[in-house]
Amino acid sequence: MSANLGALLKRLDPALRIQVYEAADELAYESSNGWNNAGTGHAGICEISYTPITRDGSPVKVQKVIDIFQEFEQTLQFWSHAVASGMIDNPKEFINPLPHIAFVDGEEQVKFLRSRYDGMKAHHFFAAMEWSTDHAKIGSWAPLLTVGRDPKQSIAATKMDGGTDINFGNVSRKLLAWLAKQPDCSVLSSTKVVGLKKVGLVVSNQPSSGWNVTTRNLKTGVEHTVTAKFVFVGAGGGSLPLLQKAGLPEARGLGGFPIGGHWLVCDKPEIVAQHQAKVYGQNLPEAPTMAVPHLDTRILDGKKTLLFGPFAAWTTRFLHRTGSWTDLPRSVKPHNLMTLLKIAATNFPLVRYLMQQGTQSMADRMRVMHIFYPSAKAEDWKLVDGGIRVQAIKKTDGEAGIVHFGTEVLTSADKSMSALLGASPGASVCVNIVLEVINKSFPHLMTSPRMAEIVPTYGTDYRKPENAARFNALATEARKHLKLI
Ligand SMILES: Cc1cc2nc3c(=O)[nH]c(=O)nc-3n(C[C@H](O)[C@H](O)[C@H](O)COP(=O)(O)OP(=O)(O)OC[C@H]3O[C@@H](n4cnc5c(N)ncnc54)[C@H](O)[C@@H]3O)c2cc1C
Repeated sequence: MSANLGALLKRLDPALRIQVYEAADELAYESSNGWNNAGTGHAGICEISYTPITRDGSPVKVQKVIDIFQEFEQTLQFWSHAVASGMIDNPKEFINPLPHIAFVDGEEQVKFLRSRYDGMKAHHFFAAMEWSTDHAKIGSWAPLLTVGRDPKQSIAATKMDGGTDINFGNVSRKLLAWLAKQPDCSVLSSTKVVGLKKVGLVVSNQPSSGWNVTTRNLKTGVEHTVTAKFVFVGAGGGSLPLLQKAGLPEARGLGGFPIGGHWLVCDKPEIVAQHQAKVYGQNLPEAPTMAVPHLDTRILDGKKTLLFGPFAAWTTRFLHRTGSWTDLPRSVKPHNLMTLLKIAATNFPLVRYLMQQGTQSMADRMRVMHIFYPSAKAEDWKLVDGGIRVQAIKKTDGEAGIVHFGTEVLTSADKSMSALLGASPGASVCVNIVLEVINKSFPHLMTSPRMAEIVPTYGTDYRKPENAARFNALATEARKHLKLI
């Protein structure tokens, strides 16, 4: 998020002075690291959880996937601009084309998927989507789904080419490398932000406000303070503690709840070669939306591999690399204690689910895998860490639950600080989030003539059918630069 914000801001206004701090020794190795997320370019194509099942027989509502598709396109447009203009190179190192498949079994789910397909296919974003209930056809799209499956079982799938697998860590590191080379910009690692204090400033002879940002070099222990007119708290799991340090009134009552993730990984070439898709399934009962299982081809560290999961895990850490088991207890304050207790009391099924996930055996995990890949064998798979998400908990969430809370930008009343909370739909819509931050705190940049070059789809509603032809032209150009076609 910070890499995209920094690079896009500098591109819009080359006179800006930007400093990025990263606590870890390496950049983008927390949530955005390739292994710590599913790498799905969330365009709404296969994520069944964005289109909940309707119990009254009415057609499945597909507006949310249409919105997400348009938001994700802004990310592709910016990255395409970054490649075309020479800011970054070699897009294959961070983005690759991959069919996206939604897969279900059972009569009720098949009916649901058909309704979802009908709704989506009618929109120009998803016109290329295909549907099938035929085992042979589905097997031709993704052989592992049908090998060893009872031919009488009722299954259905939708497939769309044009989906993507993304290494969000690699694209972040490329953007940060570019930013670090720009005049008046710098990126410092092993440097943790340990204090944020509001200060009065005078800007163009007018009283204004900004922040004293205190950092600690984690290798030498040396502390340093700089003053900034604007601070973006894009610290992932570290954002809530920083907001608490800043004492922002807007952050009062906010809590954080960390959920760890695990993947099952298969590196066996003869199995990996049989799968070339991201296959998302139906949400399991009581599972949070982040735990919807999927069987994914990934291109990580220059190698094709297979990931299945995620499996939720219990943790009290907010950050994988630089966090500690005390993160959760230390985030509990008098102003958020009641919110946290209420959430715990009203989300007992979720708490039970997390406890049960944490104690799962390999056989339990393979039972979930067999829904997708019936002939999978435990000995071909190993369990690896899959990162941590800190779900933001708001006072007003009440019984709405904590883990269905999307990404939210929080901005101080005087616009001198923005922060990102929540985790879903995540890195895919980072540019849409960045544009929201810029719109709130740097509104004059939104009308910059450069915007049309940097994010060509910004400012027009391409969800409207009359804009379909122009959208397709822009989308094709971006995909050519990103070497997706
Ligand atoms: C299991 C799982 C699967 C996911 N799958 C997907 C997916 O398929 N597609 C998708 O789009 N999204 C996915 N996500 C979400 C996505 O990974 C995140 O939304 C995104 O990476 C968050 O980026 P970020 O920049 O906010 O956080 P991060 O990448 O975590 O970056 C924050 C950085 O701030 C640093 N930091 C923290 N505190 C401080 C401090 N005090 N001082 C200095 N630095 C600090 C951290 O070290 C870190 O490097 C998934 C997440 C999980 C857990």
